[in-house]
Amino acid sequence: MSGLLKVVGGLAVLLLVLAALALFWYLPVKADRDMNVVKRDAPISVSEKAAKFHDDLRGADLHSDMLLWMRDPSKRHSRGHTDLPRLREGRVAVQVFASVTKTPAGQNYEENTAESDQITLLAIAQRWPIRTWDSIYERARYHAERLFAEEAESDGNFVVALTKRDLADALAKRETDKSVLVGILATEGSHPLEGDIDKLQGLYDAGYRMIGLHHFFDNELGGSLHGVSGEGLTPFGREVVLKLVEMDIMIDVAHSSHQVVRDVLEMTDEPLVVSHTGIYSACNSTRNIPDDLMAEIAARGGLIGIGFWADVTCNDAPVGIANVIKYAADKFGVEHIALGSDYDGTVTTTFDASELSVLTEALLEKGMSEEDVRLVMGENAIRFFSENLPD
Ligand SMILES: [Zn+2]
Repeated sequence: MSGLLKVVGGLAVLLLVLAALALFWYLPVKADRDMNVVKRDAPISVSEKAAKFHDDLRGADLHSDMLLWMRDPSKRHSRGHTDLPRLREGRVAVQVFASVTKTPAGQNYEENTAESDQITLLAIAQRWPIRTWDSIYERARYHAERLFAEEAESDGNFVVALTKRDLADALAKRETDKSVLVGILATEGSHPLEGDIDKLQGLYDAGYRMIGLHHFFDNELGGSLHGVSGEGLTPFGREVVLKLVEMDIMIDVAHSSHQVVRDVLEMTDEPLVVSHTGIYSACNSTRNIPDDLMAEIAARGGLIGIGFWADVTCNDAPVGIANVIKYAADKFGVEHIALGSDYDGTVTTTFDASELSVLTEALLEKGMSEEDVRLVMGENAIRFFSENLPD
């Protein structure tokens, strides 16, 4: 009898170990691989001329969700879209890293409530600190800590820019060492504030310099583009926007309801960012806000990051993305258009960060001037951050 108990006990322990291995190792890697796909129809090939031109660019991208995943950012990976080595290979000089802290089950572009949250399971499975399991504020703090840990281990060739000076110094260093890469921290939504304005200082102290007002659900600030209410800013939302302006924190209205965008435009003259989006009249998608709002954002000196995935561009091939970039540049002014890949944001793309030269080539082939290609591939974003990071 006791022999049988031992066998059963041994089996139970084995099952527990297997379950733990599945939860903590296999599933997070599988989720990352399955959700951040690069769909290549054929190996990427770029002409020698375009490759040479791209090699001298200072690339910049307004939105990667790399920090959400268990990948070591300092190593080159075969899954997902971004890590520091691949960003360097793609000649990216400045990358905005967004902190995703809460996502609803059954996430869609039409209507989501704030009730469910899939990040809790991801936080546990990826062995994030226990403080992050039930606090979205702590998740944002943890993501920032992860990025600063990369900076600390990088021997100075990865810098998290907190000020104009940090950015200028790093870019000056990059003139002689192209491995120098700058990160800027942003939140994807303002729910990490947990309804408490004082936590804004905590996020600033953690390193955040751009705050997205919304993600997929309505929050304490007002309506999401994919929420239920469709409403504008709440009194708390207005309080937060005023405080963001006062603290020199950049405002990202990607994922905010039309009315929230209108309200923010009414409240402040500060230039706004739409970090990852398409253009509605080029790709009729509920993920894209109306052109009149985009035109107003551009007219106020804002920055619009064009995404790399099909839901916003209607065509995720390099030529499809180039079409939208060229369209947006012609319509809103080339100086307002940038890249907003949404790499690692549970999207499928046709090239990863190391292969950005394929987009440069597509833009040149569309007849965009070399000067304009330089602007949209990075210089516009670099100029914007040089002007809008705190002193
Ligand atoms: Zn997003």
